[in-house]
Amino acid sequence: MHCPFCGANDTKVIDSRLVADGHQVRRRRQCLACNERYTTFETAELVMPRVIKTNGNREPFNEDKLRGGIQHALEKRPVSADDIERAINTIKSRLRATGEREVPSDMIGNLVMEALKELDKVAYIRFASVYRSFEDIREFGEEIAKLEK
Ligand SMILES: [Zn+2]
Repeated sequence: MHCPFCGANDTKVIDSRLVADGHQVRRRRQCLACNERYTTFETAELVMPRVIKTNGNREPFNEDKLRGGIQHALEKRPVSADDIERAINTIKSRLRATGEREVPSDMIGNLVMEALKELDKVAYIRFASVYRSFEDIREFGEEIAKLEK
């Protein structure tokens, strides 16, 4: 790829390692023309199922939206960016593992809840209280009670 600083197309990889549980390769590159260093991340692009919204509309799977929702729930919580990426990768593999061309948005919501439950209970409750309906309120009460102990 072209150097983002000077546009030259000769860059060399000076370090390469796996991150996010091996789902990503992080490469440090150096431009041979201007010597600036920068980092690239490489991930496999695999086809994700489309999303069926509650109103029946279909839309493409949107990883940024997923990440945004998770980050929002985890705002000011002690969870690392690496753990967030790992959770996103787990959710994506589980969606692909369904083998379906289209999945309901509810399924994604449930996977996010499961992931947050493992990462951070406060974020889980934040997300769940917005996402889930009243019928589950007892379960939240129990989760909150566990936190207060
Ligand atoms: Zn350069």
